[in-house]
Amino acid sequence: MESRVYLLSEAQGLTKDLLGGKGYGLVAMAGAGLPVPPALVITTEACRTYLRTGQAVGLEEEVRRKMAALEGLTGKRFGQGEGKSPPLLVSVRSGAPVSMPGMMDTILNLGLTLEGVEALARATENPRFAWDTFRRLLAMYGEVVLGEKAEVFEGMLSALKAERGVEADTALSAEDLEELSFHYLRHLEARGTPFPMDPWAQLFAAIEAVFKSWLNPRAKTYRRIYGIPEDLGTAVVVQAMVYGNLGEDSGTGVGFTRNPATGEKGLYGEYLRNAQGEDVVAGIRTPEPLERLKDYAPGLYAELLQVAERLERHFRDMQDFEFTAERGRLFLLQTRSGKRTAKAAVRIAVEMAEEGLISKEEAVLRVEANALPGLLKPAVDRNQAPKPLLKGLPASPGAATGHAVFSNEGAERLAAQGLPPLLIRPETTPEDITGMYLSKGILTARGGLTSHAAVVARGLGVPAVVGAEALRVFPEEGRALVDGVEIREGDLLTLDGGTGEVYLGAVPLVEAAEEALLEKLFAWAEPYRRLGVRANADTPLDAQRARAFGAQGIGLCRTEHMFFQEERLPWVRRLILAKTPEEEEEALEKLFAFQKDDFKAILRAMDGLPVTVRLMDPPLHEFLPPLAELEARAKEGDQEALALLERAKALHEVNPMLGFRGVRLLLLRPAIFRMQLKALLEAAQELKEEGLDPRPEVMVPLVADPKEVERARALAEELFQAYGPIPFGTMIETPRAALLAGEIAPLVDFFSFGTNDLTQMAFGLSRDDAGKFLPRYVEEGLFPFDPTERLDEKGVGRLLRLAAEEGRRANPRLKLGLCGEHGGEAGSVQAVAGLLDYTSASPFRILTARLAAAQAGL
Ligand code: PEP
Ligand code: MG
Repeated sequence: MESRVYLLSEAQGLTKDLLGGKGYGLVAMAGAGLPVPPALVITTEACRTYLRTGQAVGLEEEVRRKMAALEGLTGKRFGQGEGKSPPLLVSVRSGAPVSMPGMMDTILNLGLTLEGVEALARATENPRFAWDTFRRLLAMYGEVVLGEKAEVFEGMLSALKAERGVEADTALSAEDLEELSFHYLRHLEARGTPFPMDPWAQLFAAIEAVFKSWLNPRAKTYRRIYGIPEDLGTAVVVQAMVYGNLGEDSGTGVGFTRNPATGEKGLYGEYLRNAQGEDVVAGIRTPEPLERLKDYAPGLYAELLQVAERLERHFRDMQDFEFTAERGRLFLLQTRSGKRTAKAAVRIAVEMAEEGLISKEEAVLRVEANALPGLLKPAVDRNQAPKPLLKGLPASPGAATGHAVFSNEGAERLAAQGLPPLLIRPETTPEDITGMYLSKGILTARGGLTSHAAVVARGLGVPAVVGAEALRVFPEEGRALVDGVEIREGDLLTLDGGTGEVYLGAVPLVEAAEEALLEKLFAWAEPYRRLGVRANADTPLDAQRARAFGAQGIGLCRTEHMFFQEERLPWVRRLILAKTPEEEEEALEKLFAFQKDDFKAILRAMDGLPVTVRLMDPPLHEFLPPLAELEARAKEGDQEALALLERAKALHEVNPMLGFRGVRLLLLRPAIFRMQLKALLEAAQELKEEGLDPRPEVMVPLVADPKEVERARALAEELFQAYGPIPFGTMIETPRAALLAGEIAPLVDFFSFGTNDLTQMAFGLSRDDAGKFLPRYVEEGLFPFDPTERLDEKGVGRLLRLAAEEGRRANPRLKLGLCGEHGGEAGSVQAVAGLLDYTSASPFRILTARLAAAQAGL
């Protein structure tokens, strides 16, 4: 039978799956010649057997044999002192293959009995230390193995300190600690769970407790949320104790090989003198920065510097390590890759590649592409920020401090006073665009990550938090409420669109990442990118911004956004209300002029690069004021409102998103189609006359049938006759279009997958309302992630692959792009990188798309 228990020296080359993270790190450190106390590792396999069968036959025997070897290595006997030699005590720790909070962690000083305490006191000539060690064991064992609450032991300790009139644990004498130990022992006895005065019984019960902790509810929940398989099991590390509580030349600490917040190279961490590990965690005494060791223990500090360097050389990553100094001698107890901020991740990856520790390719792979937008902007410094007032969905990254406003007028009022507005709305509609544009931050009570507020905010690059359900907004009254806290116009708030948190007042921020580091990273990444990256941009400003981020054109220009601007809306409304061809003609002419100017500006900003213009998508009634408002105004005798009301009622749809919109509208109101396309073609023509190189493309949305495409193409061809042809494409955003891709493909030059609608329709869930329940679906483990955010490869992805493959088969020259919000999400981009020609993302996600695409190519 295979061994299930290994000494560190025997476990070289075994996997992390078998040894767990902690065991694996110890084995590696020991192998690299770093000072690690002798230890044995019980494998995850042993845990799995135990959990399956309720026992581990023969394991005790194996543990006893390896403990004998541990005794040999340390020259001490487990639990028994001999003459001048103290008893061997061990720590027992759990260590799953993936770091997993919620499981049993550590019992220290295991193997000590009343007899052992005497021996330990004798051998160290330090009775205080011996009793301190014992009372710690009793409390930890009592909690973890015997199931008593930690507070009970803390309570008895506090009571004793109060009785003695002292504050610090260190002020208690040997006699005090002896008395405390007996309190603990009697208490455990009285509750029917006596402490075993047998080292071996302690050890085996502790091992079993670690195995069982795999199944505790916290651990289970954690696994469910993070998708960690149930059957991994945990390893157990049994390690010879070293003592940080032996006096002022002893201590315990935690080190990082680089600063986990900034990534700056250099030893960073904390140290607590005369203490054992759990004192640091418990926060009873405040540890001091490692730097201070330079003053009073320079030898130890120098050794730590060396260790840090060796750890990095070995693990080729920033390490977070625990250590103990026992009478000046350094021991390493644990190491793992350190958690870090996104900003630190970039710096560490780039600098490690420059130092030659990792390859440039490795550096590219180490940066999480989805974290990039957050790096381009300041963020709230969570270490210094107070408790947030409110939490919503992180819709557009960056932190913003501003004064609350509740309307376009409010935003204009504050902006005129030179104050930064922060717009608060129940949700936003195209009518709020002025306020959104003027504001430094946007906060809504409703809506998901693809709601109007979220999409527009990302486009504008304005930080936004949406769907903050605890927020109640009363725009007419100019106020909002959160749990009884009232926010009025002018009140100062800070929001972080990267985390979804909202704070009262101004809070400290951290700076954006250094551009030079990002530039280096991208210079290394770009050669591996095959997928093109374009932008979703509707304005010249967006286009410029996107180009600066490296966009290779525009993949989606939503033309209707231009209709919502103030001076244009009346003309759109006239178009909708037109009763005669002349009236329609007049409105269209006006709109034509606006659109041509817009297109010229955008094509100019993207000169030499493709610009895909999507023709009108939303239902017409979106351009009218809400019915309720019209009714109110009509009641007061407003003639315009009365006219609009009639039309609005006629246009009213129960389900507008599935109604008279997109290609349906374009085909049945062809004058709009012609006006838009002609504006685009003429804009390009005029730029060409200026000597520029405009590259327009046109596409129609919401197609479900080849006939629609055929008819749209015929309309387009009429204009191509006059102006010359440009690439003509269709969006694939209904499941039926995806299924009929083979029939549609010969009619077009390109497909652009609209994965927002494709997801909405494939799942049958409204992207505007799903924010109300999707987060809970994810929390409950029903969905692994939110499919409006990350492409569902299984279902939506299947439609996409099918359409891509059948489309290409039917038309080998077909170009394929993606322009839903998924186009700027790293996991989604990686999923389609090998399939499509390009993806298209909002300007601030261009870098994410570029990096993710490069990572897919590595
Ligand atoms: C889509 O549906 O994915 C898309 C890009 O169009 P819109 O978001 O404008 O509906
Ligand atoms: Mg769409």
